[in-house]
Amino acid sequence: MYDLIIVGGGPAGVAAGVYAARKRLKTALISQDIGGQSINSGSIENFIGVETMSGFDFAQRLEKQLRAQSDIEIILGHTVSEITPQEGGYSIRTHTGKVFETKTVLLALGSSYKRLDIPGEKQFEGKGVFYCSICDAPLMKGKDALVIGGGNSGLEAVLDVIPYAQHVTLLNRSEVLRGDQVYQEKIASYPHVSIRMNTVVTEFSGSTFLERAHVRNTVTGQEEDVAVSGAFVAIGYQPNTTLVKDLVTLNERGQIVVDHKTMKTSREGIWSAGDCTDGLYHQNNTAAGDAVKAVLNIHESLR
Ligand code: NDP
Repeated sequence: MYDLIIVGGGPAGVAAGVYAARKRLKTALISQDIGGQSINSGSIENFIGVETMSGFDFAQRLEKQLRAQSDIEIILGHTVSEITPQEGGYSIRTHTGKVFETKTVLLALGSSYKRLDIPGEKQFEGKGVFYCSICDAPLMKGKDALVIGGGNSGLEAVLDVIPYAQHVTLLNRSEVLRGDQVYQEKIASYPHVSIRMNTVVTEFSGSTFLERAHVRNTVTGQEEDVAVSGAFVAIGYQPNTTLVKDLVTLNERGQIVVDHKTMKTSREGIWSAGDCTDGLYHQNNTAAGDAVKAVLNIHESLR
Protein backbone atom coordinates (compact mmCIF):
# COMPACT_ATOMS: atom_id res chain seq x y z
CA MET A 1 0.00 0.00 0.00
CA TYR A 2 1.28 3.45 -0.93
CA ASP A 3 1.33 6.35 1.52
CA LEU A 4 0.37 8.71 -1.28
CA ILE A 5 -0.81 8.51 -4.86
CA ILE A 6 -0.58 11.72 -6.88
CA VAL A 7 -2.96 11.90 -9.82
CA GLY A 8 -1.64 14.33 -12.45
CA GLY A 9 1.73 15.35 -13.89
CA GLY A 10 1.57 19.14 -14.23
CA PRO A 11 3.57 21.49 -11.99
CA ALA A 12 1.32 20.64 -9.02
CA GLY A 13 1.74 16.89 -9.42
CA VAL A 14 5.49 17.15 -9.96
CA ALA A 15 6.07 19.53 -7.03
CA ALA A 16 4.10 17.12 -4.86
CA GLY A 17 6.19 14.21 -6.13
CA VAL A 18 9.48 15.92 -5.35
CA TYR A 19 8.40 16.86 -1.83
CA ALA A 20 6.80 13.48 -1.08
CA ALA A 21 9.93 11.63 -2.17
CA ARG A 22 12.09 13.83 0.03
CA LYS A 23 9.79 13.11 2.97
CA ARG A 24 10.31 9.41 2.22
CA LEU A 25 6.62 8.80 1.67
CA LYS A 26 5.97 5.68 -0.38
CA THR A 27 4.58 7.52 -3.39
CA ALA A 28 3.35 6.89 -6.91
CA LEU A 29 2.51 9.55 -9.50
CA ILE A 30 0.01 8.52 -12.17
CA SER A 31 -0.45 10.66 -15.28
CA GLN A 32 -0.70 10.50 -19.05
CA ASP A 33 2.42 12.65 -19.30
CA ILE A 34 4.47 15.30 -17.51
CA GLY A 35 4.15 19.04 -18.11
CA GLY A 36 0.54 20.13 -17.77
CA GLN A 37 -1.03 22.79 -19.95
CA SER A 38 2.06 24.98 -20.18
CA ILE A 39 3.64 22.43 -22.49
CA ASN A 40 1.96 24.41 -25.30
CA SER A 41 3.30 27.77 -24.17
CA GLY A 42 5.85 29.42 -26.47
CA SER A 43 7.69 31.13 -23.70
CA ILE A 44 7.28 31.06 -19.94
CA GLU A 45 8.88 34.10 -18.38
CA ASN A 46 7.30 34.15 -14.96
CA PHE A 47 8.27 30.85 -13.37
CA ILE A 48 10.33 31.99 -10.44
CA GLY A 49 14.00 31.11 -10.73
CA VAL A 50 13.97 30.62 -14.51
CA GLU A 51 14.15 33.77 -16.60
CA THR A 52 12.67 32.26 -19.74
CA MET A 53 11.95 28.81 -21.16
CA SER A 54 9.55 27.23 -23.62
CA GLY A 55 6.64 25.11 -22.39
CA PHE A 56 8.36 22.04 -23.80
CA ASP A 57 11.54 22.90 -21.93
CA PHE A 58 9.50 23.40 -18.75
CA ALA A 59 7.95 19.95 -19.11
CA GLN A 60 11.39 18.40 -19.60
CA ARG A 61 12.77 20.17 -16.54
CA LEU A 62 9.83 18.97 -14.45
CA GLU A 63 10.32 15.39 -15.57
CA LYS A 64 14.08 15.51 -14.99
CA GLN A 65 13.65 16.82 -11.44
CA LEU A 66 10.98 14.23 -10.70
CA ARG A 67 13.11 11.38 -12.02
CA ALA A 68 16.04 12.61 -9.92
CA GLN A 69 14.10 11.56 -6.81
CA SER A 70 14.92 7.98 -5.91
CA ASP A 71 11.78 7.19 -3.94
CA ILE A 72 8.90 7.69 -6.31
CA GLU A 73 7.20 5.42 -8.77
CA ILE A 74 6.29 7.31 -11.94
CA ILE A 75 3.46 5.69 -13.89
CA LEU A 76 3.00 7.53 -17.19
CA GLY A 77 0.63 6.77 -20.07
CA HIS A 78 -2.14 5.97 -17.63
CA THR A 79 -5.43 7.72 -16.93
CA VAL A 80 -7.15 7.16 -13.61
CA SER A 81 -10.68 5.93 -14.22
CA GLU A 82 -11.90 5.27 -10.67
CA ILE A 83 -11.05 6.24 -7.10
CA THR A 84 -12.88 4.13 -4.51
CA PRO A 85 -12.79 4.54 -0.74
CA GLN A 86 -11.74 1.38 1.11
CA GLU A 87 -10.62 0.41 4.62
CA GLY A 88 -7.63 2.63 5.54
CA GLY A 89 -7.53 4.57 2.28
CA TYR A 90 -8.42 4.35 -1.40
CA SER A 91 -8.15 2.01 -4.33
CA ILE A 92 -7.22 3.62 -7.62
CA ARG A 93 -7.95 1.97 -10.95
CA THR A 94 -6.43 3.11 -14.23
CA HIS A 95 -7.98 2.82 -17.69
CA THR A 96 -5.83 -0.25 -18.32
CA GLY A 97 -7.37 -2.03 -15.30
CA LYS A 98 -4.31 -1.65 -13.04
CA VAL A 99 -5.29 -1.20 -9.39
CA PHE A 100 -3.25 0.60 -6.73
CA GLU A 101 -3.96 0.97 -3.02
CA THR A 102 -3.03 4.04 -1.07
CA LYS A 103 -3.55 5.68 2.30
CA THR A 104 -3.90 9.18 0.83
CA VAL A 105 -4.56 10.80 -2.56
CA LEU A 106 -3.50 14.13 -4.04
CA LEU A 107 -5.68 15.26 -6.94
CA ALA A 108 -3.64 17.43 -9.32
CA LEU A 109 -6.02 16.98 -12.24
CA GLY A 110 -5.47 20.33 -13.96
CA SER A 111 -7.90 21.90 -16.39
CA SER A 112 -8.73 21.97 -20.12
CA TYR A 113 -9.58 24.60 -22.73
CA LYS A 114 -13.04 26.12 -22.35
CA ARG A 115 -15.26 26.00 -25.43
CA LEU A 116 -17.55 28.80 -26.64
CA ASP A 117 -20.40 26.33 -27.22
CA ILE A 118 -21.70 28.14 -30.29
CA PRO A 119 -22.91 26.78 -33.65
CA GLY A 120 -20.07 25.78 -35.97
CA GLU A 121 -17.44 25.53 -33.22
CA LYS A 122 -17.33 21.75 -33.22
CA GLN A 123 -17.71 21.48 -36.99
CA PHE A 124 -14.67 23.68 -37.67
CA GLU A 125 -12.47 22.52 -34.80
CA GLY A 126 -9.04 21.94 -36.33
CA LYS A 127 -10.35 23.40 -39.63
CA GLY A 128 -10.07 27.03 -38.63
CA VAL A 129 -11.20 26.95 -35.01
CA PHE A 130 -8.19 26.37 -32.77
CA TYR A 131 -7.46 26.26 -29.03
CA CYS A 132 -3.67 25.91 -29.02
CA SER A 133 -2.19 29.05 -30.56
CA ILE A 134 1.41 27.94 -30.28
CA CYS A 135 0.55 24.75 -32.18
CA ASP A 136 -1.62 26.25 -34.91
CA ALA A 137 -0.41 29.86 -35.35
CA PRO A 138 1.85 28.89 -38.32
CA LEU A 139 -1.30 27.96 -40.29
CA MET A 140 -2.19 31.68 -40.32
CA LYS A 141 0.67 32.69 -42.63
CA GLY A 142 -0.55 35.68 -44.66
CA LYS A 143 -4.14 35.24 -43.45
CA ASP A 144 -6.61 37.10 -41.24
CA ALA A 145 -7.05 35.67 -37.76
CA LEU A 146 -9.31 36.24 -34.81
CA VAL A 147 -8.39 35.69 -31.20
CA ILE A 148 -11.25 35.41 -28.75
CA GLY A 149 -10.58 36.28 -25.10
CA GLY A 150 -8.77 39.19 -23.47
CA GLY A 151 -7.15 37.40 -20.52
CA ASN A 152 -3.49 36.36 -20.49
CA SER A 153 -4.28 33.31 -22.63
CA GLY A 154 -5.89 35.52 -25.28
CA LEU A 155 -3.07 38.06 -25.26
CA GLU A 156 -0.49 35.28 -25.49
CA ALA A 157 -2.43 33.82 -28.40
CA VAL A 158 -2.29 37.20 -30.18
CA LEU A 159 1.48 37.29 -29.68
CA ASP A 160 1.77 33.74 -31.04
CA VAL A 161 -0.23 34.60 -34.17
CA ILE A 162 1.34 38.05 -34.86
CA PRO A 163 4.47 36.72 -36.62
CA TYR A 164 2.38 34.81 -39.17
CA ALA A 165 -0.95 36.54 -39.77
CA GLN A 166 -1.62 39.40 -42.14
CA HIS A 167 -3.98 40.84 -39.56
CA VAL A 168 -5.06 39.78 -36.07
CA THR A 169 -8.28 40.96 -34.45
CA LEU A 170 -8.72 40.41 -30.74
CA LEU A 171 -12.34 40.14 -29.63
CA ASN A 172 -12.96 40.97 -25.99
CA ARG A 173 -16.36 40.30 -24.44
CA SER A 174 -16.23 43.11 -21.89
CA GLU A 175 -14.79 46.62 -22.10
CA VAL A 176 -11.56 45.88 -20.25
CA LEU A 177 -8.79 43.44 -21.03
CA ARG A 178 -8.01 41.16 -18.10
CA GLY A 179 -4.54 40.23 -19.30
CA ASP A 180 -1.27 41.67 -17.96
CA GLN A 181 -0.29 45.23 -18.88
CA VAL A 182 3.06 43.94 -20.19
CA TYR A 183 1.26 41.89 -22.85
CA GLN A 184 -1.15 44.72 -23.65
CA GLU A 185 1.75 47.08 -24.29
CA LYS A 186 3.54 44.53 -26.49
CA ILE A 187 0.43 43.99 -28.59
CA ALA A 188 -0.21 47.72 -28.95
CA SER A 189 3.17 48.09 -30.68
CA TYR A 190 2.06 46.02 -33.71
CA PRO A 191 0.20 47.89 -36.47
CA HIS A 192 -1.50 44.77 -37.84
CA VAL A 193 -3.41 44.05 -34.62
CA SER A 194 -6.78 45.54 -33.75
CA ILE A 195 -8.90 45.09 -30.66
CA ARG A 196 -12.69 45.09 -30.56
CA MET A 197 -14.19 45.50 -27.12
CA ASN A 198 -17.69 44.38 -26.09
CA THR A 199 -17.73 41.87 -28.93
CA VAL A 200 -18.65 38.18 -28.95
CA VAL A 201 -18.77 35.52 -31.66
CA THR A 202 -22.17 33.88 -32.01
CA GLU A 203 -21.48 31.48 -34.89
CA PHE A 204 -18.72 30.07 -37.08
CA SER A 205 -19.46 29.20 -40.70
CA GLY A 206 -17.76 28.14 -43.91
CA SER A 207 -17.63 25.16 -46.26
CA THR A 208 -14.84 22.63 -45.55
CA PHE A 209 -12.81 25.19 -43.62
CA LEU A 210 -13.80 28.16 -41.52
CA GLU A 211 -14.59 31.24 -43.61
CA ARG A 212 -16.65 33.55 -41.40
CA ALA A 213 -17.34 34.44 -37.80
CA HIS A 214 -20.66 36.03 -36.98
CA VAL A 215 -20.00 38.66 -34.29
CA ARG A 216 -22.21 40.83 -32.12
CA ASN A 217 -21.47 44.03 -30.25
CA THR A 218 -22.93 43.48 -26.77
CA VAL A 219 -23.51 47.22 -26.21
CA THR A 220 -25.00 48.36 -29.53
CA GLY A 221 -26.44 44.98 -30.51
CA GLN A 222 -24.96 45.42 -33.99
CA GLU A 223 -24.22 42.13 -35.78
CA GLU A 224 -21.96 41.38 -38.74
CA ASP A 225 -20.04 38.64 -40.54
CA VAL A 226 -16.26 38.86 -40.37
CA ALA A 227 -14.25 37.02 -43.04
CA VAL A 228 -11.57 35.00 -41.29
CA SER A 229 -9.34 31.98 -41.89
CA GLY A 230 -8.60 31.11 -38.30
CA ALA A 231 -10.17 31.77 -34.91
CA PHE A 232 -8.21 31.06 -31.76
CA VAL A 233 -10.47 30.49 -28.77
CA ALA A 234 -8.62 31.49 -25.59
CA ILE A 235 -11.32 32.09 -23.01
CA GLY A 236 -9.91 30.23 -20.06
CA TYR A 237 -10.04 26.72 -18.72
CA GLN A 238 -12.41 24.31 -17.06
CA PRO A 239 -11.28 21.95 -14.30
CA ASN A 240 -10.80 18.24 -15.14
CA THR A 241 -12.90 17.03 -12.25
CA THR A 242 -15.52 14.69 -13.74
CA LEU A 243 -13.63 11.75 -12.23
CA VAL A 244 -14.20 12.99 -8.68
CA LYS A 245 -17.59 14.69 -8.93
CA ASP A 246 -19.21 12.13 -6.59
CA LEU A 247 -16.18 11.83 -4.33
CA VAL A 248 -15.34 15.36 -3.17
CA THR A 249 -17.26 18.63 -3.00
CA LEU A 250 -17.06 20.76 -6.15
CA ASN A 251 -18.14 24.39 -6.47
CA GLU A 252 -20.57 25.70 -9.11
CA ARG A 253 -17.68 25.96 -11.60
CA GLY A 254 -16.77 22.31 -11.09
CA GLN A 255 -13.62 23.16 -9.13
CA ILE A 256 -12.58 21.08 -6.12
CA VAL A 257 -13.30 22.94 -2.89
CA VAL A 258 -10.23 22.87 -0.65
CA ASP A 259 -9.14 24.31 2.66
CA HIS A 260 -6.47 26.70 1.40
CA LYS A 261 -4.28 26.34 4.49
CA THR A 262 -3.86 22.60 4.08
CA MET A 263 -5.29 21.84 0.59
CA LYS A 264 -7.56 19.20 2.14
CA THR A 265 -10.74 18.41 0.20
CA SER A 266 -14.12 17.64 1.76
CA ARG A 267 -13.15 13.96 2.00
CA GLU A 268 -10.77 12.61 4.63
CA GLY A 269 -7.56 11.35 3.04
CA ILE A 270 -7.88 13.34 -0.19
CA TRP A 271 -6.01 16.58 -0.92
CA SER A 272 -5.96 18.65 -4.10
CA ALA A 273 -3.76 21.34 -5.70
CA GLY A 274 -3.42 23.34 -8.90
CA ASP A 275 -5.88 24.38 -11.60
CA CYS A 276 -8.54 21.84 -10.61
CA THR A 277 -9.10 23.57 -7.24
CA ASP A 278 -11.21 26.56 -6.26
CA GLY A 279 -8.14 28.80 -5.81
CA LEU A 280 -8.69 32.34 -7.00
CA TYR A 281 -5.49 32.42 -9.06
CA HIS A 282 -4.17 29.63 -11.22
CA GLN A 283 -0.53 29.88 -12.16
CA ASN A 284 2.32 27.39 -12.47
CA ASN A 285 3.91 28.99 -9.42
CA THR A 286 0.75 28.78 -7.30
CA ALA A 287 0.05 25.21 -8.43
CA ALA A 288 3.50 24.14 -7.30
CA GLY A 289 3.22 26.06 -4.02
CA ASP A 290 -0.21 24.63 -3.21
CA ALA A 291 1.01 21.10 -3.93
CA VAL A 292 3.91 21.61 -1.53
CA LYS A 293 1.48 22.73 1.19
CA ALA A 294 -0.62 19.64 0.51
CA VAL A 295 2.30 17.22 0.78
CA LEU A 296 3.59 18.77 3.99
CA ASN A 297 0.09 18.40 5.44
CA ILE A 298 -0.22 14.82 4.16
CA HIS A 299 3.14 13.98 5.73
CA GLU A 300 2.00 15.45 9.04
CA SER A 301 -1.31 13.65 8.99
CA LEU A 302 0.34 10.29 8.20
CA ARG A 303 2.79 10.80 11.05
P1 NDP B 1 -9.21 34.56 -17.88
O1 NDP B 1 -10.36 34.06 -17.10
O2 NDP B 1 -8.19 35.42 -17.24
O3 NDP B 1 -9.76 35.38 -19.15
C1 NDP B 1 -10.74 34.81 -19.97
C2 NDP B 1 -11.09 35.78 -21.08
O4 NDP B 1 -12.03 35.14 -21.93
C3 NDP B 1 -11.75 37.07 -20.60
O5 NDP B 1 -11.41 38.09 -21.51
C4 NDP B 1 -13.24 36.72 -20.69
O6 NDP B 1 -14.05 37.82 -20.91
C5 NDP B 1 -13.25 35.87 -21.93
N1 NDP B 1 -14.36 34.95 -21.98
C6 NDP B 1 -14.70 33.99 -21.09
N2 NDP B 1 -15.76 33.29 -21.52
C7 NDP B 1 -16.10 33.83 -22.71
C8 NDP B 1 -17.10 33.54 -23.65
N3 NDP B 1 -17.98 32.54 -23.48
N4 NDP B 1 -17.17 34.31 -24.77
C9 NDP B 1 -16.28 35.30 -24.98
N5 NDP B 1 -15.30 35.63 -24.13
C10 NDP B 1 -15.21 34.89 -23.00
O7 NDP B 1 -8.57 33.23 -18.53
P2 NDP B 1 -7.11 32.99 -19.09
O8 NDP B 1 -7.12 31.62 -19.66
O9 NDP B 1 -6.69 34.08 -19.97
O10 NDP B 1 -6.21 33.00 -17.80
C11 NDP B 1 -6.49 32.10 -16.71
C12 NDP B 1 -5.41 32.31 -15.65
O11 NDP B 1 -4.15 31.83 -16.14
C13 NDP B 1 -5.22 33.77 -15.28
O12 NDP B 1 -4.93 33.87 -13.91
C14 NDP B 1 -4.03 34.17 -16.12
O13 NDP B 1 -3.31 35.26 -15.58
C15 NDP B 1 -3.21 32.89 -16.12
N6 NDP B 1 -2.36 32.82 -17.31
C16 NDP B 1 -1.09 33.31 -17.19
C17 NDP B 1 -0.25 33.30 -18.26
C18 NDP B 1 1.11 33.91 -18.07
O14 NDP B 1 1.33 34.54 -17.05
N7 NDP B 1 2.04 33.73 -18.99
C19 NDP B 1 -0.64 32.75 -19.56
C20 NDP B 1 -2.03 32.30 -19.61
C21 NDP B 1 -2.83 32.34 -18.49
P3 NDP B 1 -14.66 38.71 -19.70
O15 NDP B 1 -13.52 39.56 -19.23
O16 NDP B 1 -15.76 39.44 -20.35
O17 NDP B 1 -15.15 37.73 -18.68
